[in-house]
Amino acid sequence: MSIKENDKKYIAPTYGRFPVEFARAEGSTVYDTDGKKYIDMGAGIATTVFGHCDSEYVKAVTEQLNKYAHASNLYYTEPQVKLAELLCEKTGMKKVFFANSGAEANEGMIKAARKYSFDKYGEGRSKIITLKNSFHGRTVTTLSATGQDVFHNYFFPFTEGFDYAPANDIEGTKALITDDVCAVMVELVQGEGGVLPLEADYVNEIYSLCAEKDILFCVDEVQTGNGRCGALYAYMRYNIMPDIISTAKGLGGGLPIGAVLLGEKVENTLGPSMHGSTFGGNPVCAAGAYNVISRIDDGLLDGVQKKSDYIVSRLKACKNTVSVSGMGLLLGIKTTKDSKEIVNACIADGVLPLTAKDKIRLTPPLNISFEDLEKALDVICANIDK
Ligand SMILES: *Cc1c(COP(=O)(O)O)cnc(C)c1O
Repeated sequence: MSIKENDKKYIAPTYGRFPVEFARAEGSTVYDTDGKKYIDMGAGIATTVFGHCDSEYVKAVTEQLNKYAHASNLYYTEPQVKLAELLCEKTGMKKVFFANSGAEANEGMIKAARKYSFDKYGEGRSKIITLKNSFHGRTVTTLSATGQDVFHNYFFPFTEGFDYAPANDIEGTKALITDDVCAVMVELVQGEGGVLPLEADYVNEIYSLCAEKDILFCVDEVQTGNGRCGALYAYMRYNIMPDIISTAKGLGGGLPIGAVLLGEKVENTLGPSMHGSTFGGNPVCAAGAYNVISRIDDGLLDGVQKKSDYIVSRLKACKNTVSVSGMGLLLGIKTTKDSKEIVNACIADGVLPLTAKDKIRLTPPLNISFEDLEKALDVICANIDK
């Protein structure tokens, strides 16, 4: 039986897969098992920051793999410590907890926020305000945190203590920030929700109110982080310093790792045995992540913005484009047509875009060449306007 048939037979059908079977990939190019070539405009959902099989990244990862693959968090490991130090240096955060995924990083962020409030104010101040149309993960608690009714089915009972504020509505959000709230948790660009950035005024107002009331301002940078939005983390494009940041996706450059970056207020909130993860901060993943974070410099970020500008200008020139939203190389395109149909047509023509809600979503590798971008946009624009 073919891989496609056996996938259907043996794998739980939670994903509607696109009709592409990966054979190998290099840089921003993917080859399927029929030898067909694609330009990768999704990068494994904002994950393979430096494309596929980047030689420096592969070297960093394999060097560690040849030393030891895993060591348990009961022991000291150099890659994890180096990565944590680098993340703290580059962000000003104080300590890091390592997880394996975005949802787990958010679980850690939620635990730290609630514990901080419990330590200081006792019980009854544990509510977390998230935003309508957000996405924070697939665990029972992060589904609860996700402000979309469609995610609140089947798996009852969900974790209590979340309330959903209307994004970019200052008064509507303030009205929910009552005395039982310990944290506000936001994506600065709602990725899965349709690539919708928060407005600077809104973020600054809510941030100030949180600071005033000792409510933790928590930013889910799982998708927006690690260079994706034209800064190392998207919060750097706003005039704020979050209390806690969660990240994953691009952090590992294609390997699974998540991180909770803890600011001054919460640096010692999670003590011995209060949280943990067998694989969290695995040395091979951490070595890959160190390579990724150490290479996200001003030159690369400048390129991200230039590529973003180029993509936006090309897309805006399409006659069926309604709007282009997003930040850096996290972009969403609304057209007058069905986005899924456009994406399938692009795949047939050798380009791999993503969707987000009713939009086409583009999250290419940050180091994609202008040549590949131009070719990909020729295909995408042709399909938008067909
Ligand atoms: C993808 C995503 C998550 C979940 O990450 P996983 O690694 O799939 O658990 C959480 N938050 C945001 C903003 C995401 O984009």
